[in-house]
Amino acid sequence: MKVFKFGGASVKNADGIRNVAGIISDFGKDEKLVVVVSAMGKTTNELEEVVEWKFKDINESLRLLKVIHAKHLDIVNQLFPEGTSDLQQQMHEHFVEGEWVIEEQRDMPYDYVYDQVVCIGELISSRILAAWLNHSGMNVRWFDARNLILTDDTYRDGRVLWNETDAKIREQLIPVLNEKKIVLTQGFIGSTKENNTTTLGREGSDYTAAILSNALNADGMYIWKDVPGVLTGDPDLFFNVTKLDRLSYSEAIEMTYYGCKVIHPKTIQPLKNKNIPLFVKSFIEPKGEGTLISDDIDLEYPPIVILEKGQALIHFTPKDLSFIAEHHLAHLFDLFEKYRIKVNMMRNTAISFSVCVRNEPSRLQELVREVEKQYKVLIDPDLELLTIRHYLDAMIPKLLEEKIVMLEERIRKTLQIVMKSAPAILPKK
Ligand code: ASP
Ligand code: MG
Repeated sequence: MKVFKFGGASVKNADGIRNVAGIISDFGKDEKLVVVVSAMGKTTNELEEVVEWKFKDINESLRLLKVIHAKHLDIVNQLFPEGTSDLQQQMHEHFVEGEWVIEEQRDMPYDYVYDQVVCIGELISSRILAAWLNHSGMNVRWFDARNLILTDDTYRDGRVLWNETDAKIREQLIPVLNEKKIVLTQGFIGSTKENNTTTLGREGSDYTAAILSNALNADGMYIWKDVPGVLTGDPDLFFNVTKLDRLSYSEAIEMTYYGCKVIHPKTIQPLKNKNIPLFVKSFIEPKGEGTLISDDIDLEYPPIVILEKGQALIHFTPKDLSFIAEHHLAHLFDLFEKYRIKVNMMRNTAISFSVCVRNEPSRLQELVREVEKQYKVLIDPDLELLTIRHYLDAMIPKLLEEKIVMLEERIRKTLQIVMKSAPAILPKK
């Protein structure tokens, strides 16, 4: 049994859907297969805007939702020029639910509304893909992932309730797989016990695929991407990156922790626990070897570079100038947890404590408001966090050209540097 995950880039238009169908029939043949799909292209970002507008202007929010609907109908018309009323009806129902949330669900918290609306992206992409696969002669059953993945009610970051989820997946999917049907479902979304929709965090579809792989004891999980595999750096940002043929689970966990975007950070653990190999392959060159992530092996790795933009350094200094002590740190970390601020790097001096975090101004402002009686707080915005695993000293100067280093740390195999662009003042000749 295999689990395939297709991200938004692979299904961004009608050709993408046809290509994915080709991969499923070529590589999933003669296999029990579960397919997990994300929203098409940048739909999730567009739905995020719909949510933003709901709180400012409901009509604009509804208008944007209609634009998304029309875009998807356009793709459906390209795939099925002869028309498909069933599919259009299914899509219509998902959009009607979204409209209802926007119009009728007043005074609900932002994160709750977000999940009830943003889930539409995955629901309709999976409806379209299911229709196309069935039309192409494959035997596919569509499942609503909200009946499979049960979470708590942490909206936008649902924590999976493993026992219930495991039971639901096995009970519903095993009989269908035994009938030789392909199971198709959505990534990223789940449900609370009260049947409210939750999401698992941006890019969470990989995680969904890993949960399903774990529950079903898959022989392998495959993530189909627009890159040939896991690379030693983002090819949009760095020259001379190469593909890693093999990675251990623990190296993959480190890389995703430091911000490598190829795989969602929560993906590896459920696979490692059941020793399920993960293949990262290209949907453009599906025959390419890709990257195999599997049981810990002692590998020699080349340097791997990860750049996270949009960072900020926050400096806390107790107003009474007391030494930074354990109780300060405990208090601050409680607040990071409360506002769900992930600390990427930290450092303290006698009377100040600095952390590098993702620059999310609204969350940071809330935090500042809560601590400003006790601490003087300074924020340096617009920073980048460069992480190099298995670094070589010789490569560092080039990476730091025209940068100002704000904070630097080396631990064994990892070098981390918080930096900003140097002002472009040039000498006059
Ligand atoms: N569609 C969601 C996102 O863009 C989930 C995913 O793609 O994994 O974040
Ligand atoms: Mg995506």
